[in-house]
Amino acid sequence: MTDAVTLVIATKNSGKLIEIAALLKNYPVRLKSLSEFGPIPPVEEDGASFDDNAYKKAAFTSRVLGLSALADDSGLVVPALGGGPGIHSARYGGDSLTDAHRCDLLLQNLKGKTDRQASFSCVISIATPTGAALTYEGRCEGLIAESASGTNGFGYDPIFYYPPLNKTFAEMTPREKSQISHRGKALKQLQDEFDKVLLWLQQQMPILEKFPCHGGIAC
Ligand code: IMP
Repeated sequence: MTDAVTLVIATKNSGKLIEIAALLKNYPVRLKSLSEFGPIPPVEEDGASFDDNAYKKAAFTSRVLGLSALADDSGLVVPALGGGPGIHSARYGGDSLTDAHRCDLLLQNLKGKTDRQASFSCVISIATPTGAALTYEGRCEGLIAESASGTNGFGYDPIFYYPPLNKTFAEMTPREKSQISHRGKALKQLQDEFDKVLLWLQQQMPILEKFPCHGGIAC
């Protein structure tokens, strides 16, 4: 029997946090969100790929807090927009835009284009304070809808249409979305080998030395 491992979910995006926490809720792991800690320095997401950025976020958070950390880097890839917004999905159109504005902007930029193909990609990195990390990836293919529809989820969910269910992501229940989404698929791979991952995390964590404090008792 292994002790519960602590895993910090390194995201400030509440939509991601909710999805990740729901998918890991039945596993023997103590999940913590960044809001449970004091302010930590921001991570610069200047990597060239989802992999780079996921690792940067997970490794940085883990090193700063001295705990294992899980980070997700994800985004929407639209071939008719040259692969954009891609790794820039969170800041597409500038920092001041809301999710709804970003959806409108993307629809505007696709106006008149017949190629509506799109895919969501997600890379999950689990890192430990030593810098060692594991990586999981998931992808979901769909189309950009002609207009936004649905109120669930976050980000580009209202404009991402998934033909097999004839719904946008924002029209799906959280359970429906997690069964087919990029993040759900990446987390499913992690879930499938979670026992091994927990052992690995425990082996990676530094063993804290016990110092005698009062009357020779280690504490
Ligand atoms: P980052 O991974 O924090 O850099 O940002 C990912 C961005 O991609 C989010 O802010 C959303 O705009 C978008 N995104 C990622 N996953 C999803 C999803 O499941 N639904 C809708 N938008 C998403």
